[in-house]
Amino acid sequence: MSISARIAYETCPLCASNDIYSILQADCSKHQLYNPVIPPVINWVGCAVCDHVFTDGYFTPEAQTILFSKTEPDQVVGHDLENQRHISARIIEKVARQIDQGDWLDVGFGNGSLLFTAHEWGYTPVGIDLREDNVRILRSLGFEAHSIPIETFDHPDRFSVISMADVLEHMPFPCRGLQAAQRLLHANGVLFLSMPNMGSLAWQLLDHKKTNPYWGAIEHFHNFSRERLYALLKTHGFTPIHYDVSKRYRVCMEIVAVKTSQTGNQDH
Ligand SMILES: [Zn+2]
Repeated sequence: MSISARIAYETCPLCASNDIYSILQADCSKHQLYNPVIPPVINWVGCAVCDHVFTDGYFTPEAQTILFSKTEPDQVVGHDLENQRHISARIIEKVARQIDQGDWLDVGFGNGSLLFTAHEWGYTPVGIDLREDNVRILRSLGFEAHSIPIETFDHPDRFSVISMADVLEHMPFPCRGLQAAQRLLHANGVLFLSMPNMGSLAWQLLDHKKTNPYWGAIEHFHNFSRERLYALLKTHGFTPIHYDVSKRYRVCMEIVAVKTSQTGNQDH
């Protein structure tokens, strides 16, 4: 059986240019979430105008459902709780320097560690995740949780903090996620992001050794450099104020940004 797995990007998902070139093909058949009904090769392309790097298409709802039928062990609520608490604490301490109370929305909360630890600081945790099992578990622990995309979450100006830890690169259209975050944060709100940094020397070293796991990361549609991400944040009314190396996953960066303005719908 095979299915129609990907919907092609007609233009660059960040800047809408149609000046797109091929970069490389990667094997994703060894990935934990791989299913043989999905093509084993990912075609990575680049935008000649804004330098963004992305896959040539994003998954159809059918393919997405098949991929989400499996959950990686580290995405199950409560996974590795005590170690993850230490990793999350580094993040929350940085955010708390900017804003130390209010509602904290974690998008794609996965194992829940960021929300559990934010709760220790006194924030009110709220989680959204497309995995319904995780939402059920979080609710059973007494937390507010929803199984909906951030774009449809309707609580404008509510949140002090929105975290999207290793999430933006999974979104078919990251601009929509940032527009939603802009709408949901209140005037002094803080956005936390983490994701692999393809502009790092560590990334280049993995490429050189042909051991870079991210080209074959089946659920990723984008690879960001710090420069491209900062430009994107500014377009969407966020000012990055802190850069760090992430302890969550390999070769990742983490950024704290503050909401600086309302923006129009100039992106896609
Ligand atoms: Zn572009």
